[in-house]
Amino acid sequence: LFTIALLLLVSGHSARAQQKNPYENTTRPLIERGLKDLSAYALLSELSEGIGPRLSGSEGAAKAVVWAKAKMEALGFQNVRLLPCKVPHWVRGEGENGGYIVDGREQSLSLCALGGSVPTPSEGITADVIEVHSLAEAEKLGERGKGKIVFFNRPMDPTKVNTGEAYGGAVEQRFGGASAAAKSGAVAVLVRSMTLAIDDAPHTGSMGYADRVPKIPAAAISTLAAEHLSALLKAGQTVKVRLKLTCQSLPDADSASVIGEIVGSEKPNEVIVMGGHLDSWDLGRGANDDGTGCVHAMEALSLIQRLGWKPKRTLRVVLFMNEENGGRGAMSYAEEAKKSSQKHIAAIESDDGGFAPMGFGVTATPDQWRRIRRWAKALTPINADRLTEGGGGADIGPLAPLGAALFGLAPTDQRYFDYHHSRHDTIDKVNPRELELGAIALAILSWRLSEEGLPGKSETMQKQ
Ligand SMILES: [Zn+2]
Repeated sequence: LFTIALLLLVSGHSARAQQKNPYENTTRPLIERGLKDLSAYALLSELSEGIGPRLSGSEGAAKAVVWAKAKMEALGFQNVRLLPCKVPHWVRGEGENGGYIVDGREQSLSLCALGGSVPTPSEGITADVIEVHSLAEAEKLGERGKGKIVFFNRPMDPTKVNTGEAYGGAVEQRFGGASAAAKSGAVAVLVRSMTLAIDDAPHTGSMGYADRVPKIPAAAISTLAAEHLSALLKAGQTVKVRLKLTCQSLPDADSASVIGEIVGSEKPNEVIVMGGHLDSWDLGRGANDDGTGCVHAMEALSLIQRLGWKPKRTLRVVLFMNEENGGRGAMSYAEEAKKSSQKHIAAIESDDGGFAPMGFGVTATPDQWRRIRRWAKALTPINADRLTEGGGGADIGPLAPLGAALFGLAPTDQRYFDYHHSRHDTIDKVNPRELELGAIALAILSWRLSEEGLPGKSETMQKQ
């Protein structure tokens, strides 16, 4: 019996060897070197633990720029440089707080100002609360909204498997809630935190004001607080909220994106960009959003470098500044790319966390897709071969009109929004092997792009 089992084992093995992955020679070394070194995690530790939060215009953001440049130089990247940009400079200030008052008794409310919000008067705002579930409902409150604090409480849809889709379906309350409520005469807004987790950590994020509508303060409250507040209102209680925000917008600050590359040995003027964003919100330490994306790109290029491989086309890492509240780094990079004589053939963004990679979302022409689809096999050994239609990211989006195919790394996404923009975005949520696999995925894909290139957009595609 043992001999038969052994024979079966050997024959099975040789059958598998015959179907050898055509990309084995260029993927196996990246996988083995990456998983042995786990260098992405060491980089993340320096950025997320060593430097910490990196809100645009802050001291942390400035330190991150200095760190990234020095680190790229130390890793041996070529043409390491800063690309300057002016960034919005919003600060939270000290001592924001609030509470809800029922029957004259106040209990504290876990909240945080939304990024870009105006402050409350120094004594705070105290007013009755009214709950709504959409922008349209807030605008239609009319007289009933006058003098009130409007509370947006539509949760992210838990029935969506893709949590990014659930986020996309709810986040307009955060971004546009203040102006919608102000149209009905509201004095402030509270927004249920954008997360599926029920806990007491508020999640911040960007908001904006419409023109010609009064600017009123906007805060996120934790999901636990939102559930509690909603239950009190449903029970017919009169609930007042007291809200104090100390944030303010200062004049734009000087900052920069950080760039490094390996120049292509055959076609140096064809460029493949990969990157994430260097800035982060201030409540956590910018680990999964987006320290992991930054170190994915740095480690991917470094892995190729450590193996001594020479890419045919230029592989460039761009760590974009100000993705969270302005996108100024993305704009300045696209401006430069537009004027450059180099051609951007592809761009890869990682901004969905450092969890195990499943594949990439891809925005490309049918011709490009034919080639890209073949490369799924190169990603199969790390289980990251799911290539889906559509994707990219906020920082590389502006490169699409220049003809670049766009790729967005897609890690497993059930935990991302538990931490996103909150105090929970810390390195203990990142697994070193899962993080490294993301970097390996970028290395495998960028290597294929540099070896084979992509068919350009046809005339008709460009006209569209
Ligand atoms: Zn991000």
